[in-house]
Amino acid sequence: MPSTAAKEEAPKVKERPFILDGIFTRLTALPGIGPRNGSLMAKLVGGDKILDVLWHKPIDFIDRRFTPSVKDAPNGQICTLTITVDKHNVPPKRSMPYRVLCHDDTGPIDLVFFNANKDWVSKQLPLGVEVVVSGKVEYYRGKPQIVHPDAIGSVEDRKSIETVEPIYPLTQGITNKLLRKAVMAALPRLPELPEWLDPAYKERQRFLSWCDALEKLHNPMNINDLSPESSVRMRLAYDEFLANQLALAMVRYHQRRRQGRSYKTGGEMRRKLLEALPFELTGAQQRSIAEIDKDMEDPSKMLRMLQGDVGAGKTVVAALAMLNAIESGAQAAIMAPTEILARQHAESMKPLLDACGVRFVTLTGRDKGKQRETLLQQIRNGAAQIVIGTHALFQDGVEFDDLGLAVIDEQHRFGVHQRLMLAAKGKGVDVLVMTATPIPRTLTLTAYGDMEVSKLDEKPPGRKPIDTRLISHEHVQQMIEGLERKIAEGERVYWVCPLVEESEFMDVAAAQERFEILQAKFGDKVGLVHGRLKPEEKDETMAKFASGEIDILVATTVIEVGVNVPEATIMVIEHAERFGLSQLHQLRGRVGRGGDQSYCFLVYPKRLTETAKERLNIMRATEDGFKIAERDLELRGAGEILGTRQSGMPEFRLAELPAHSELLATARDDAKLIMDKDPKLESERGKALRTLLYLFERDQAIQYLLSG
Ligand code: ADP
Ligand code: MG
Repeated sequence: MPSTAAKEEAPKVKERPFILDGIFTRLTALPGIGPRNGSLMAKLVGGDKILDVLWHKPIDFIDRRFTPSVKDAPNGQICTLTITVDKHNVPPKRSMPYRVLCHDDTGPIDLVFFNANKDWVSKQLPLGVEVVVSGKVEYYRGKPQIVHPDAIGSVEDRKSIETVEPIYPLTQGITNKLLRKAVMAALPRLPELPEWLDPAYKERQRFLSWCDALEKLHNPMNINDLSPESSVRMRLAYDEFLANQLALAMVRYHQRRRQGRSYKTGGEMRRKLLEALPFELTGAQQRSIAEIDKDMEDPSKMLRMLQGDVGAGKTVVAALAMLNAIESGAQAAIMAPTEILARQHAESMKPLLDACGVRFVTLTGRDKGKQRETLLQQIRNGAAQIVIGTHALFQDGVEFDDLGLAVIDEQHRFGVHQRLMLAAKGKGVDVLVMTATPIPRTLTLTAYGDMEVSKLDEKPPGRKPIDTRLISHEHVQQMIEGLERKIAEGERVYWVCPLVEESEFMDVAAAQERFEILQAKFGDKVGLVHGRLKPEEKDETMAKFASGEIDILVATTVIEVGVNVPEATIMVIEHAERFGLSQLHQLRGRVGRGGDQSYCFLVYPKRLTETAKERLNIMRATEDGFKIAERDLELRGAGEILGTRQSGMPEFRLAELPAHSELLATARDDAKLIMDKDPKLESERGKALRTLLYLFERDQAIQYLLSG
């Protein structure tokens, strides 16, 4: 049995200031919270520390400050009344209402209890005594009553009852009362922390101190206090952004400080590759390559993002960048988030790399034993000039002879940490990250700080716009008949099945069912892929789809990223209303890659709210991924835009985007200034900022401070 002391001990991060121990203590130290509801609580508030409870913000409140006389208490309103108990009408059966008759100078009122414990009621409401009760007043047969008052107390308790009671987001097993009690017990643990805000800025914004702001967050006095625009929310949001931006600025500062290297650009290999290309580069591709070349030629390290909508042609840009490194005698690596994508990169790059005589290998988690050994050796001795792979690339045991450029595809799937690990495999490694998700500027900032961005905002020529249609579920059968004709003409179909929230199992079941329905009609021309399959099985089916052995690929969202089958011209998305706009855009981008007319059918259920329909209509109105992402951000907020947790995007507890976008920009400038003036955080303010970093557990940044 662990002792209580051990249980309450704060998980110790190296060098964390003692002053934070009280709020870094596990939340089970709070009254009413044990091991069982403790884990529910931790899940609800997003962490298992007392601080996490304090960061759980109220979303509403009940105002108990209204204290009318009984006569003036309006029907349906929450009132706090001072009344005298006259009589207990105990029912013969517990299931019947238990009425307590009361009055004040202006008239009578009943308190009503169902399933009441008699002893409890009589103890709470002693005969002849004046009490204070609070709850919703309702009129029943012309007489006012309160059913199950929310609060009952003696006259001495009045002050504590006549307050504003915040309402928190809750979960099964955690009542508002319990949560409130925990918060109230946590608040006194708040330490006075040194102020990390710039004094002039704090003054101008009229911000409270951090401690007072949290205190006030949990004691809202009016509805404005709950809004993201309130001074309290802004202060707390700013702190969160500042921690985020400062940490990123520090990582960058330290990366920059390490010498990068200078690569010569545009030589023989590149000429051969361009000759082998069956097309001309678009203007946007040329511009992006010029930007990358400039960075790579410069002796400081490159940290650039290549943003381009699906199908915009990022792969060839990456290949050209890699040639820079190789022609200078270094190696290059490209990391994709999934096995399928890594293999596909390898496949689509093969003809290009072969044309310029580059030796490359593919390394993924599936390479085991002897084969893996051989690959590792080729990477180690430099025989492999380019390495294409998955996460397997940055694992221990993978050593490069001389890694010079790391390209990271579908960036938002990887965290900062993983990025750094790949870059750490070489000296002064240039980093190019590629993403197909058009990330709004505000989000790029939170995830990367001020990273340079190249945009592929021009599609390769000859692409026809995708014909996007909304199809009511009732008309699916008709649509299938239409598909039959298309398939007969040699076209290929993706069929994406509903995403069932938080249940991969249900996803799979739905996809399975659709697969069987389609199979009954199309026979072995239909394939199925989902997250539960072994990678080999998935790849096999994907390969069959790519080669045309099957015509319809039923899938859960595993096909979401990057997969390229130019012959696929039809995308069907069932229950399209359950997807985020950006996700729909990603999915739709799987088609329209060849020269043929492509279609996207967004299937929606019969009952669809107006807003939901409006959202789907945006998909019909535009193919501009940036526009869609901005709309998505407005409609859903940042947390969800990139497909939740696994996105690698930081999640904010107190800040809300886009409501707080302006604060984010200020925090970025602030962080930049801090790094210019006091990169080691040694000044008075600098020391306070260290506390801020600890508070938000920016471990990476703290590590830099500790190692100097
Ligand atoms: P993504 O940006 O989604 O990674 P890809 O690099 O896979 O896009 O390119 C999509 C398709 O467009 C590929 O088949 C590729 O060969 C083709 N492509 C790329 N650039 C051009 C271009 N400039 N002109 C014509 N086709 C191109
Ligand atoms: Mg790609």
